[in-house]
Amino acid sequence: MPELRQDFATKEWVIIATERAKRPEDFVKERSEPDRLPERDDKCPFCPGNERMTPEETYALRNGSGPNEPGWLVRVVPNKFPALVPDSRPYRSRSGLYLRMKGVGFHEVVIETPRHDKCPATLTEDEMTGVVSVYKQRYSELNRNPTNELILIFRNQGKQAGTSLIHPHSQIVATPIVPPAVRRTLYEAERFYDAMGRCVHCEIVNYELRVQERVVMDEPDFVVLVPYAAQVPFELTIIPKFHQASFGEIPDDKIGPFARVLWTTLRKLYYGLKNPDYNFAIITAPHYSQGEPHAHWHLRIRPRLTTPAGFEMGTQIFINTSLPEENAHFLRQVSIPEPSSEQ
Ligand SMILES: [Zn+2]
Ligand SMILES: [Zn+2]
Repeated sequence: MPELRQDFATKEWVIIATERAKRPEDFVKERSEPDRLPERDDKCPFCPGNERMTPEETYALRNGSGPNEPGWLVRVVPNKFPALVPDSRPYRSRSGLYLRMKGVGFHEVVIETPRHDKCPATLTEDEMTGVVSVYKQRYSELNRNPTNELILIFRNQGKQAGTSLIHPHSQIVATPIVPPAVRRTLYEAERFYDAMGRCVHCEIVNYELRVQERVVMDEPDFVVLVPYAAQVPFELTIIPKFHQASFGEIPDDKIGPFARVLWTTLRKLYYGLKNPDYNFAIITAPHYSQGEPHAHWHLRIRPRLTTPAGFEMGTQIFINTSLPEENAHFLRQVSIPEPSSEQ
């Protein structure tokens, strides 16, 4: 018998298709040997030595060398083909019946490593910490501009996840609007807060730690869960155990622990499911909701193991052909090699 499950925070429904349910092992990618990538590619705009192929960098972690020169560890540049571009304050106008505004905002690329052939799971823990500290730096910088109503940090890993350039990179987009889906989620969280006097995400963390059915990792500051109403197989959320509305508020001494839990989670996917494609995004409060008691930032990972089809398009209800509890159990068991034993 299939089952409908509701997300406690967003109120979205999902169908867990237990009849068609696959075992976690069924999602392990057939290991067609991936193309062996070179450490450096002459034609890649993100490789060291090719700094002139990108717009001028806005920020970098580097060891002594000058801007736009090799020697960087993490490099941030404006996207060459941006979805939104910096400009003055955006004004709304009418186009007949319709509302429109100039595409004002920021679109940056975070080049995570000089190495062309890496991915998050094969970075070192220190490299991942560098990447996360750059996320925080850019978030704080973009957040100073009140026109940036929402700042989204996200990553597309692999072709199925929509990446066009292989060189490891994440993206940051700052938008001048807050989309209806984000507002609706915040509204539900606010309603819960009004009724119960508690944050709905803190409530979920406490409950999940008590029942232990969907916990993949339980660290002092963060918990990794397969959500009760996961929309796709092996969906994961990493939630801070401390209440905090905005990713920009993460204290410096929690950046290392957050990077470590993200890195370990991505390595579990990499070794457990044999390098699946995935997207991740840091879901955080819009500018006007920062500091609110009901908003609670978290990171969501969505592996691209299935393709949403017409039903999902028409209803916004996802059909998940796996059991969240089994996915969590599978990932708990995945053992990842010591970094020193790789390569
Ligand atoms: Zn490259
Ligand atoms: Zn909370």
